[in-house]
Amino acid sequence: VSDLSHEARIVASSMLDAAAEALNPTVRLGVTGLSRAGKTVFITALVHALTNGARMPLFRAYADGRLIGARLSPQPDDSVPRFDIETHLKALLEDRKWPQSTRRISELRLIVDFGSETFLGRRRGTSHLTLDIVDYPGEWLLDLGLMGKTYSQWSAETVAMSRRGARQEFARDWHKHLKTLDAAAPESEAEARASADLFTAYLRSSREARHALSALPPGRFLMPGDLEGSPMLTFAPLDVAADAEPKPGTLHAMMARRYDAYVDGVVRPFFRDHFARLDRQIVLVDVLAALDAGPDAVSDLETALVDVLAAFRHGRNSWLTALFRPRVDKILFAATKADHLHHTSHDRLEAILGRLVQRARETAQFGGAEVDVLAISAVRATREATAKRGKQELPVIAGTPEPGERSGDKTFTGEEEIGVFPGDLPADPNVALAPGGYRGRAETGEGDVGIIRFRPPKLEGPWGKTRLPHIRMDRVLQFLLGDKLA
Ligand code: GDP
Repeated sequence: VSDLSHEARIVASSMLDAAAEALNPTVRLGVTGLSRAGKTVFITALVHALTNGARMPLFRAYADGRLIGARLSPQPDDSVPRFDIETHLKALLEDRKWPQSTRRISELRLIVDFGSETFLGRRRGTSHLTLDIVDYPGEWLLDLGLMGKTYSQWSAETVAMSRRGARQEFARDWHKHLKTLDAAAPESEAEARASADLFTAYLRSSREARHALSALPPGRFLMPGDLEGSPMLTFAPLDVAADAEPKPGTLHAMMARRYDAYVDGVVRPFFRDHFARLDRQIVLVDVLAALDAGPDAVSDLETALVDVLAAFRHGRNSWLTALFRPRVDKILFAATKADHLHHTSHDRLEAILGRLVQRARETAQFGGAEVDVLAISAVRATREATAKRGKQELPVIAGTPEPGERSGDKTFTGEEEIGVFPGDLPADPNVALAPGGYRGRAETGEGDVGIIRFRPPKLEGPWGKTRLPHIRMDRVLQFLLGDKLA
């Protein structure tokens, strides 16, 4: 009898939990993307829109007048740094500077007050959505694939990839050193260190040359966070077969030990403590930079998208998440910085990312979560205007170049507004993505915006009261939170 009543109590309390959850929902939203994709700007703008208001006609709770407001609240995880919203807002609104980019994981809790949709013609009163925003480098996400690989497998793959195409050139110094290493030689701290340094330099230069689009694990080699300088990062691949077994006491064994320590000590805890707890995810992608950089960068981006989706598939199927309810149920891929295009190209940008994501879904055999794609600008730094070129009236975008930006022999001071021809994206995404189909705006001379960076927009009024202009942030919020604010 006591067992039964115990079970009954569990059932009753979980029903109560479910009812409370429906009225006062909780969402853990992951925000990720490779370095410079726009995570910090996105979170800052999102928090500002919810706490201060913004024009958001396609965000239903806002359009219905049910969005009451939002406030910051102490975050639940004491061991995670807080997203520094105050400093970022001050930079953006007061100083008209882009905030300092993401270098590690951080978190922020927001309570969103809203009026529930009417039930049988009656309002049910005020509800509260607890929104935990988790900002983490996309580089760390790409690490999750290491959990299923041995050191030898990872080495063989990484070395093979570094011998392909343009990467070969970036890997030259590391390859030279790699040739001198004998995996079966006795372990050596000096060799491990030299090798790790050269390998990191290779990762960094291939990454920089591709405009921050390609990322190879280990993610902490590029985004160390609090592991900067840690011995945990002192290893590198060796030229060994994927099924090679390291012999005790060898350099191979030493590297393998450190790799395992990285996977167990860094990757798994990140998965368990952060990734596996997310409910929803937005992945920010600088698609424009990839297009402008050319077909190599686009193909790198495609590989990265496959890896991202594989990480989510992995997350859903692992024993860890199987113990709990299925987690991430919505993933949004957003092409950032759409304000670098005329609005006629926003849909084209969206279609290009849509095609990339569709292909990645097929490759990664990803199903499960609902996936959508948007072209956005979290903070719109430009406005649209027209300018004369010869006899033609052409659409331009106008903005204030950052101090020190240059065009021809002119160096901008950060004060003057200029108009630039943004160039058009191809209407057919297949053309944009086919090798040689689209050479990027800077190269074709179609537009001159690819190279110029604009300052955040000038806002009227005291900065606490302002609204930030944006592109499609209302659709972002509707996709990610709309159902929770019903
Ligand atoms: P993170 O490394 O992913 O955190 O990237 P950030 O959010 O720091 O963004 C990197 C840079 O991209 C910023 O410093 C801006 O120059 C630019 N950026 C990001 N979002 C936008 C946007 O919505 N519009 C424009 N024009 N630039 C943006």
